Amino acid sequence: MYPERPAGLAFGGDYNPEQWPREVLEEDAALMREAGVNLVSLGMFSWALMEPAEGRYDFGWLDEILDRLHAAGVAVDLATPTAAPPAWFVAAHPDVLPVTREGVRIGFGGRQSACSSAPAFREATARLVRALGEHYRDHPAVAMWHVHNEYGAPLGECYCEHSVAAWRGWLRATYQDISALNDAWGTTFWGQTYTDWSQIDAPRFNHTVVNPAQRLDYARFSDGQHREHYALQRDILRELTPHLPVTTNFAGTVNCKSTDLWQWARELDVVANDHYLRAEQPDNHIDLAMSADLARSVAGGAPWMLMEHSAGAVNWQPRNLAKRPGEMRRNSLAHVARGSDSVLFFQWRASRFGAEKFHSGLVPHAGTDSGQWREVVRLGADLRRLAGVRGSRVRAEVALVWDWESYWALELDWRPSVDLSFRERMDAFYEALWREHVTVDFVHPSADISGYRVVVAPSAYLLTEAGAKNLHRYVEAGGHLLVSYFSGIVDEHDAIHPGPHPGALRELLGLSVEEFHPLRQDETVPLTAEPGTEDLRGRIWSERVRPAGAVTVRAFAAGPDAGHPAFTRHDLGAGTAWYLSTAPTGGRALRDLLGQVLDRAGVSRPRGLPEHLELVRRGRHVFLINHGDEPVTVEGVTGVSVFDGERCDGRVTVAAGAVTVVEETPRPEGERA
Ligand SMILES: [Zn+2]
Repeated sequence: MYPERPAGLAFGGDYNPEQWPREVLEEDAALMREAGVNLVSLGMFSWALMEPAEGRYDFGWLDEILDRLHAAGVAVDLATPTAAPPAWFVAAHPDVLPVTREGVRIGFGGRQSACSSAPAFREATARLVRALGEHYRDHPAVAMWHVHNEYGAPLGECYCEHSVAAWRGWLRATYQDISALNDAWGTTFWGQTYTDWSQIDAPRFNHTVVNPAQRLDYARFSDGQHREHYALQRDILRELTPHLPVTTNFAGTVNCKSTDLWQWARELDVVANDHYLRAEQPDNHIDLAMSADLARSVAGGAPWMLMEHSAGAVNWQPRNLAKRPGEMRRNSLAHVARGSDSVLFFQWRASRFGAEKFHSGLVPHAGTDSGQWREVVRLGADLRRLAGVRGSRVRAEVALVWDWESYWALELDWRPSVDLSFRERMDAFYEALWREHVTVDFVHPSADISGYRVVVAPSAYLLTEAGAKNLHRYVEAGGHLLVSYFSGIVDEHDAIHPGPHPGALRELLGLSVEEFHPLRQDETVPLTAEPGTEDLRGRIWSERVRPAGAVTVRAFAAGPDAGHPAFTRHDLGAGTAWYLSTAPTGGRALRDLLGQVLDRAGVSRPRGLPEHLELVRRGRHVFLINHGDEPVTVEGVTGVSVFDGERCDGRVTVAAGAVTVVEETPRPEGERA
């Protein structure tokens, strides 16, 4: 069920009225009207006010706020406040406080201070959510439910006694027989054989390295416990209000490592994502685009909601750079371009006190006589003009394989090199494609990928037999697959696939790897050059590849694998499988190699565009976002510019730092593109 309200694109953010006196709340309603706010998330951290003592519920203060918002035409995304259990609850049930891997029980005073597995927390959650749902089931302001806040961040894994008890139950249900667990975990190594379930502990801090299969299962289990806590609430809300959609906000698709969002997305009525720029990172709008593309992908291509981002600076990075003029608008519209039906912020009004008082708000400390407020009002107007975008879809010809289980497994301890990083490779390939103006989806290795011209696996270290077979079928049927190094190495239990590396992909890639030769920190090795191509060097990784059907496109020219393949191609069935055994460095290196794959697969890219001009098509709309300091003229776009109503016939100029959205005119029948 997709949210019916608001009718166009949603605009607004987290609203925390309990922090303000009545006169400010009256001003809020007027300012929301001025800016065109039509949706706020309410009550996220209000448990202490909703239930001031056990079983005594007080919604009177909240009724007044909902009534006022409804009168102002603002719909409410009503939150369950379980991310902030109150002091009285924690004092009565100190056993709900989570325990870290190192054995430290955290104290009260932050947030997320209860373990998802703790029975007292689950019981209190169920009672409160039922009371909240019963009270607001018919309130006309409520448009949707917002469960909890950012599961998995900062609380991913908990090591308390309740978690360990649930973990043993999970292991029994998963393996049935303890010998199956011993086999899966390879417990004969270091003499860890278990003879009873009660002997199995959580993978706590250890002075060496804990069994990696045990840690991988604990990551699965822990994520599943949070999902159970979510589903407990969702099921109560669905029972009471079957007409209202239920969601929870992801703590940033690309940044919240502990949550397997392929699994989470199935439990939600609408995917909701938070994204915060890494302020000091150059071109951080590429990370934003990646987060948005991943949100759309876990939503199965359906529209999703940007639930939180920032109007200006955040408060939790080493140096919290403010957004420059125009940056909030570019950020907001980039999310919409990539499938979001909302632009929501943390938070409506910058707080005066508490841990996040230096986090920007739509209404800054400086008040409404500020550049930021004027940008907020303008953004509201822009979003009203973009109402027709709602519900439309983004199409991609290229997909990147993204699997959280591979992310978890790759970054456990004692790998061949500390430079092996899931995000490092993922970011490198995503950025290369972004700079080529290629819109991408993300896919799970076992998903239906038959519709893509090119699939890239930047970091598929863990790859199951089923995932590998899926990739094999894709290539045989005519797909173009590019695999990067250290992929297809282990199975779902972090055990090496039998035989030479990469066990799961040897046949598909037409090669095997005799030995890994990771490079020293900052070391690079040259690759052989083709006439007319740029010099190419590799970093991080080198390995001894032995072709068995694959042909060498580029070889290492020096280093431990001099004369051996670095980049190979294997024609298989109707398709092609490519393999890259190093991290190309410098200039356009990776883009040039990727370009060969894209060209052979017939993926077209707009020519002659500067790389800082972001071009994304969503439905009939073309979004042109200029991240540079010079105007850019884009050819081949015909239609009406949404913000100024002007016609563009084949070309449109986008001012420096500006965003232009063109609603394209369908071409008459028979006319060539
Ligand atoms: Zn726990």
